[in-house]
Amino acid sequence: MRGLSQRVKSMKPSATVAVNAKALELKRKGVDLVALTAGEPDFDTPEHVKEAARRALAQGKTKYAPPAGIPELREALAEKFRRENGLEVTPEETLVTVGGKQALFNLFQAILDPGDEVLVLSPYWVSYPEMVRFAGGVPVEVPTLPEEGFIPDPDRVRRAITGRTKALVVNSPNNPTGAVYPEEVLKALAELALEHDFYLVSDEIYEHLIYEGTHFSPGTLAPEHTITVNGAAKAFAMTGWRIGYACGPKAVIKAMADVSSQSTTSPDTIAQWATLEALTNREASRAFIAMAKEAYRKRRDLLLEGLSRLGLKAVRPSGAFYVLMDTSPFAPSEVEAAEKLLQAGVAVVPGTDFAAFGHVRLSYATSEENLKKALERFAQALQ
Ligand code: PLP
Repeated sequence: MRGLSQRVKSMKPSATVAVNAKALELKRKGVDLVALTAGEPDFDTPEHVKEAARRALAQGKTKYAPPAGIPELREALAEKFRRENGLEVTPEETLVTVGGKQALFNLFQAILDPGDEVLVLSPYWVSYPEMVRFAGGVPVEVPTLPEEGFIPDPDRVRRAITGRTKALVVNSPNNPTGAVYPEEVLKALAELALEHDFYLVSDEIYEHLIYEGTHFSPGTLAPEHTITVNGAAKAFAMTGWRIGYACGPKAVIKAMADVSSQSTTSPDTIAQWATLEALTNREASRAFIAMAKEAYRKRRDLLLEGLSRLGLKAVRPSGAFYVLMDTSPFAPSEVEAAEKLLQAGVAVVPGTDFAAFGHVRLSYATSEENLKKALERFAQALQ
């Protein structure tokens, strides 16, 4: 019989991707719109990285790569995880993927059996629950609260653990809340993984974008239980290159690579050589990250000051480039508020699919001029 599978019919397409596409389409049609929707740096990829890609092309490095990535990049990843994250991993315990997204997708395919539960801290990045469900698992929401700065409460997490708990997903710095989890909280969560023998999935894709506090990789405490996921997109403004990476126990990494071998074969070879440059030309990359981080910090402060002047509530984010704004002054629901703001000329993502009800997500990975314009339009929408 013809038709679509139940599995795909029950999957929601990514709300952030959809809203951003809609905003870009309206702009293309000439609508005067400030888009605070994109989860991507507005900077161009650094020149030294682009040059490495040109070099790879000129040298004919244009063929299939091994499913787990080119050996040179896996070596560099092992070194990066050791140096920057304190994770003692060998190249065989690393994996290169088509974005951080594929690392997470393959991971859930690799570890979940039907009915396995995965604890997901809400508000969450929209893709975690969908990926879990797609792999036959059951996402179990554990709330983090605005009044607690969206920092997880390990006791609340503990209470959600059952005999079916297979994994806990942790994302610090967090999308969409911007929260940076303190080391002691991450340690407590790693201890829960050890005590109850489940996997800790640590999504560290925003690790370099921290304005207050420091980054801590919980895999240092539970190396046999943790899969650390990261990628080139946010740190090096390489969203379109589609390179992600992960490290973790060898058997899990091998299974994730096997999933790649039957789906995408390997990530883009040229992009892998470019990422190798981003990871190994440390001086140039450090300078780029410092520049971008300083720009985001200024934009965050500008946005938070503007919101506060308008009496709009938002928990101060310490990392990534998002703010969750309380939408109650605009409309009874976040969907209506997002619609109202769109009418006023600002595109935002309603919090619904992040389980951030009564909030919209604002991305400040855009120019100060755009942020000022957005604030003026918020003021008009409030009148
Ligand atoms: N994890 C989080 C929390 C993200 O926000 C994103 C992208 O928005 C990703 C992972 C995946 O990024 P990519 O697939 O572009 O590497």
